[in-house]
Amino acid sequence: MSSLRDKSYALQLNAGLRRTLKAPISAVGRGLHSGLDVRMTLRPADANTGIVFRRVDLGIDIPARYDLVTETRLCTLISVGDARVGTVEHLMAALAAVGVDDLIVEVDAPELPIFDGSAAAFLFLIESAGVIEHGGTRPALEILRSVRVEQNGAFAELRPHQDGALGFDIALSIEFQARAIGAQAYHFHLSGEEFASEIASARTFTLRAEVEALRKAGLALGGSLANAVVVDDEKIMNPEGLRYNDEFVRHKLLDVIGDLYLAGAAISGRFIGFRTGHGLNNKLLRAVFQDSANYRLTTDALERPLQLTAA
Ligand SMILES: [Zn+2]
Repeated sequence: MSSLRDKSYALQLNAGLRRTLKAPISAVGRGLHSGLDVRMTLRPADANTGIVFRRVDLGIDIPARYDLVTETRLCTLISVGDARVGTVEHLMAALAAVGVDDLIVEVDAPELPIFDGSAAAFLFLIESAGVIEHGGTRPALEILRSVRVEQNGAFAELRPHQDGALGFDIALSIEFQARAIGAQAYHFHLSGEEFASEIASARTFTLRAEVEALRKAGLALGGSLANAVVVDDEKIMNPEGLRYNDEFVRHKLLDVIGDLYLAGAAISGRFIGFRTGHGLNNKLLRAVFQDSANYRLTTDALERPLQLTAA
């Protein structure tokens, strides 16, 4: 297996060209909401395809685009007509981190597998298949003006870089009443290597009271301690405990990366968020794209952050 830390491998990926996978790769995992098995295949795609989800059971394609997001309550869900695919955010985060631009994601169900509730399995699959450049320059979405959205005291904001900095900076803080979570903050500069070591393994989490409410509503039927951290005030219900002592804010940051990659290009700018979630992340992208003075699509705002390692 090639490694994200293998320098000769990384050297092939420095030129800022569009990327796809070297070969298809499949996996089966449980869907969080249905509790049923989902088969997912990541397939190399032609340059300029973008990331496209393909419901092979329906024969319908759903492009990974912010303006096709139709539900954000428990995950980020995109749809075309009645065809939907949910829980796209963890795969999208891994694709953003590695800088994959073109890919067909086949699924035979209305959601992606949840795996362990983090992006680790997706990153492992991408890494195992291998990433190649296949022509055309990857664009960046350069933020030119600050855009901010708010909701009930929470906010999400994208700001332009200062001093000619490049790449995607994310500063996030969260605050929960549950004492096991409390207040946490994390600052991250997106790169494939740092994503792999600091963010990819952070799992989604939920409060014990919410689990019971969801079950009663027939949702999260596939949810278990194997794919989420469950918190009961000061207690972590998972016998293995946490993977990082601030795993919660790291996972929320993972969600930001995935949700914002629905912009359709790597972001060059700074994200600042407080208690943000899928709904607010999507609202932010819609606000950015509402006014063309807020951004430009460019091929010169990409730094090397999207290379996989410092070669
Ligand atoms: Zn998540």
